[in-house]
Amino acid sequence: MQLHNLKENSQKVSFVEAVKTGLGRNQGVFFPESLAPLTDVDTLLDMDFVTRSSKILSHLIGDELPADTVAQMVKNAFNFPVKLVEVEDNNYCLELFHGPTLAFKDFGGRFMAECLAQFNKGEKVTILTATSGDTGAAVAHAFYNKPNIDVVILYPKGKISLAQQKLFTTLGDNIHCYAVDGSFDDCQELVKKSFLDDEVKSTLGLNSANSINISRLVAQVCYYFEAIAQLPKEKRATAHISVPSGNFGNVCAAMIGAVIGLPVGKLSATTNQNDTVPRYMLDKNWAPNATLESLSNAMDVSKPNNWPRVQTMLDNNWFSYDNFYSTSVSEENTQAVMKNIQQIGYVAEPHTAIAYQGLVENKAADAAGIFLATAHPAKFKESVEEILNIELEMPKPLSDALAKPCLAKDINADYDALRNEILTKLG
Ligand SMILES: *Cc1c(COP(=O)(O)O)cnc(C)c1O
Repeated sequence: MQLHNLKENSQKVSFVEAVKTGLGRNQGVFFPESLAPLTDVDTLLDMDFVTRSSKILSHLIGDELPADTVAQMVKNAFNFPVKLVEVEDNNYCLELFHGPTLAFKDFGGRFMAECLAQFNKGEKVTILTATSGDTGAAVAHAFYNKPNIDVVILYPKGKISLAQQKLFTTLGDNIHCYAVDGSFDDCQELVKKSFLDDEVKSTLGLNSANSINISRLVAQVCYYFEAIAQLPKEKRATAHISVPSGNFGNVCAAMIGAVIGLPVGKLSATTNQNDTVPRYMLDKNWAPNATLESLSNAMDVSKPNNWPRVQTMLDNNWFSYDNFYSTSVSEENTQAVMKNIQQIGYVAEPHTAIAYQGLVENKAADAAGIFLATAHPAKFKESVEEILNIELEMPKPLSDALAKPCLAKDINADYDALRNEILTKLG
């Protein structure tokens, strides 16, 4: 896979280099220069999830990794199911929360861990990542206890749910967590600054694990094929998929899927009140506001890092603007929609409810709809129980984590403070 930096097109890298570096010069993200279509998609759709995913990833990555290596990595990473549930006539929920940390981030996080384990044999690596809630846990679990790898996780203090937080801050060992006095965008800024700091970068062997890492995006392409494979054949080509979006990595993966041949009609990237992209779609003016705290906190992002990738595919007409929708759902409406979904007999946490709303709002009447359940409702226990007036049962990984103490250290949203801290601790 040949990629280039979307800010400085002359910087070209292989897949391996892109995975190891994370971010390009001038803070540009890497993206494939071209995306070749898959051949014989129908045959692929008949395969089981793991076999098909190995083929898709081998196709995307190309000859940099042998097919049997990719197959083994996929088998290790995707060791939990993807479920498509018809919640009402012609509307399906794609449940992506059956992994170890109960959110879709497990797919990308686990595949990325497999990649870095392949590429970094023996060298010291520090994974530095900012999390808006769920990436932290997925990455922490994927790398927990792996030799020669340290993981540093920054999260916005008090802005993620207790369940989200406890799933990574209680691990200890090679997982180092910092509660930043600021927003997720502040955390992302600290990560970007660290990558511009050559001393920190080389001393710690810095690597990013944000959704900017291309290995996560390619992994996520795979479950869109699984969703369509589980849909009746006649419904596939016109299906409409709604993705609850924050940093826009997940919808970027859906679009990559469509570009390489996934049969799908339309895509919705649905946001919460942090609506930079929905507003951009109206007037083509990029005007991020301050980040607002929402029920769907993993989408509290006002400067989505993956937007340049999505925009590239749209501007190149690899995917038509006509088939791309981006609307936002208010806080009040999020609660109302959660109740509506409860009425049809399903329990959705806030992110999932936003995806559902983006689907019913934009979908053609006769098209099949798929909305993504990006997290298990128990991960948002407090708000789900209060809004829906129910009591949720805690899945075992969560009740275990909730019983343990938080090991995170408080830190100001200040680069020098972070630099000092990680150089002292890990340098
Ligand atoms: C990360 C996350 C999102 C947003 O995904 P992006 O790829 O950042 O757009 C949505 N829902 C949940 C539960 C998440 O953890």
